[in-house]
Amino acid sequence: MSAARAKLVVMKFGGTSVEDAAAMRRTAAIVRGRRERGLEPVVVVSAMAKVTDLLLAAAAAAGRGHKAEALSISARLRHRHIETAEKLLCGELFIEIEKSIQKRFDSLDDLLRGIAAVGELTPRTGDKVVSYGERLSSRIVAAAFAQEGLNGAHVDARKCIVTDDHYGKAVPQEAAIERALIAQVLPLVEEGKTPVMGGFIGATTEGITTTLGRGGSDFTAALVGGGLHAGAIEIWTDVNGIMTTDPRICGDALRVKTISFEEAAELAYFGAKVLHPATILPAVQKSIPVWVLNSRNAANEGTKITAMAPPCASPFKSIAVKKRLTIIDVVASRMLMSHGYLKAVFEVFDRYHCAIDMVSTSEVSISVTVDSNERLPEICAELEKMADVKMEGAKALICMVGEDIRGQSGISGRVFSAIRHINVRMISQGASEINMSFMIEESDVEEAVRSLHAEFFADPDPAIFDVEAWD
Ligand code: ADP
Ligand code: ASP
Ligand code: MG
Repeated sequence: MSAARAKLVVMKFGGTSVEDAAAMRRTAAIVRGRRERGLEPVVVVSAMAKVTDLLLAAAAAAGRGHKAEALSISARLRHRHIETAEKLLCGELFIEIEKSIQKRFDSLDDLLRGIAAVGELTPRTGDKVVSYGERLSSRIVAAAFAQEGLNGAHVDARKCIVTDDHYGKAVPQEAAIERALIAQVLPLVEEGKTPVMGGFIGATTEGITTTLGRGGSDFTAALVGGGLHAGAIEIWTDVNGIMTTDPRICGDALRVKTISFEEAAELAYFGAKVLHPATILPAVQKSIPVWVLNSRNAANEGTKITAMAPPCASPFKSIAVKKRLTIIDVVASRMLMSHGYLKAVFEVFDRYHCAIDMVSTSEVSISVTVDSNERLPEICAELEKMADVKMEGAKALICMVGEDIRGQSGISGRVFSAIRHINVRMISQGASEINMSFMIEESDVEEAVRSLHAEFFADPDPAIFDVEAWD
């Protein structure tokens, strides 16, 4: 393994950090601050806020044959991108970018017309449509950096982020990515430029566009950080860092100052949207510290994610919530858990690429929780060939994460007495021993999270949590 490039910092800006011209200016100021400290930023940007959702809606409309609806979404997006560039850029820079935006929307419109004519949206074409979000935002941000004297240089992420062809959730090929980054991005850094690339998107070795799954720009940042052996990875978002719970659910949420890789990965996996679950691994493998920071409040220290978290007086660091889950109860009426039965059940989920979040078993039944998705009727139909099956939607998983619950007794008593009025459907204490999770009705989420937050974060350890935010 080559030595870390201590000065190289990968800075990822999420959708809200590039949502309009003002946000892009704030982003440029943050990057300038890093350069002035002698650091070498490599910048990864998301699509402008809400653009990915709108592109997906346009693709879906085209797939249903609704050409006019698809083109009208695209027209609104074209206007928003051009307007942003116009507010941000002057002279030649604007003329050039405007031409490039128009050209890209012309080809997006052709693509949408093609999908509408066939009346079918394949995962491969879906990725192509949705890739426009990051392809456009990264060009505008690179031009803004050029104008602001930051030597912005646009890099097409599809030339660096090499993936397999699992469209919609492509798997990155790390060795090929590292080679491409060293060949294409590193020389720009060495010339004193600020490379800017879109997150979330990649391409197969044949050059076909892919995406890494929703929220995937964080993952791109980690891949770029890992591939270039960066000194740090910074995830710039719209909150002060990783908080004790989603601040949208609980206004009392506090910033967590430091958290371990293991805890952050668990939180991300169990629904804390602030980080994509795959983000942590490339950073862990190369021991690169990851920071979560607020682009609207750049002076805040954010959250530092490191290999080891200092000991904490509170058992938990944060509470994650994952909604829109379904519980499937499989009752083995006939086979009574015979040999090979569990395997047969899980193979059904595997065949439909359906990830299971939680499992609990009794002598005759298995309950699993899965993300609600459109394949569930087919999965249930297959399971019904071997058992009685019951499906219940609108469930939520609450996951309490903390390394300091390891080996402590009495914690689950406190958890369940805090939510004693709420009906708990399934319980699991993770094998990793750093999480305690349970399923409830979606409609009980707010009450449960607020009660748990009050129970465990009423007297927070100031070494770990930002208690000053309470003043
Ligand atoms: P970005 O567009 O920058 O990637 P996201 O919307 O993906 O931002 O993630 C940031 C959001 O994650 C926050 O606005 C917050 O509502 C949500 N969130 C959920 N859980 C947490 C948590 N534990 N700490 C901080 N934010 C959280
Ligand atoms: N734009 C993509 C999304 O909204 C990726 C990201 O922002 O991380 O899912
Ligand atoms: Mg995100």
